[in-house]
Amino acid sequence: MKILIVEDEHELAADMVKYLSGEQYRCEVAADKNAALERIDLYDYDCILLDLMLPDGSGLELLETLRQQGKQDAVIIISAKNSIEDKVSGLKLGADDYLAKPFHLAELSARVFSVIRRKQFDTSNVIRQNELKVDLPARSVTIHDVLITLTRKEFDLLLLFLGNRNKVISKSALAEHLSGDLADMMDNHDFIYAHVKNLKRKLTEANYGNYLTTVYGTGYKWKA
Ligand code: CA
Repeated sequence: MKILIVEDEHELAADMVKYLSGEQYRCEVAADKNAALERIDLYDYDCILLDLMLPDGSGLELLETLRQQGKQDAVIIISAKNSIEDKVSGLKLGADDYLAKPFHLAELSARVFSVIRRKQFDTSNVIRQNELKVDLPARSVTIHDVLITLTRKEFDLLLLFLGNRNKVISKSALAEHLSGDLADMMDNHDFIYAHVKNLKRKLTEANYGNYLTTVYGTGYKWKA
């Protein structure tokens, strides 16, 4: 899986490369619009992470060019401008998702994961790990071919874990994934613990292996 990161903040781009490379994505970076256009012209990407404010223009112009050329690479807009107007224009121009800065890298990885799955596995949109099977369009989960009933939040948690295997995910990243911007306003993350605990119990009851572990004082990790 190949990802193009269009981002002029070098430190942020480097953090994204480091994290996503750990998820087995191959990452390339373009630090401005023209460099990105050159790469897009030459190569196909499974996902493009697109900053909006670039030194030589707007990411939205880049997106427009991309779609005019009929390119279907998945695009996630990453922007410090958390404005509804930008979000709407981006989605209208054919972006697949929109993530506001600052964000957790675990959240980014989960979005990349789900955008690529949605785009590339339209018909058999299924994620597997051993006896676990997740059917994304149906939002259903089976273990040993038995259907497991998860709440919406438990299902979203499971996708976050599967999109960040072998990585420690902090409680604040989990809170943000579950509640979006509301997470900033919350003082404690106890509700996260309750959802994780319920998810874990349901998986255990279905005789699924113990892949979800608690990292003391930090968060959780899903072992591949
Ligand atoms: Ca920028």
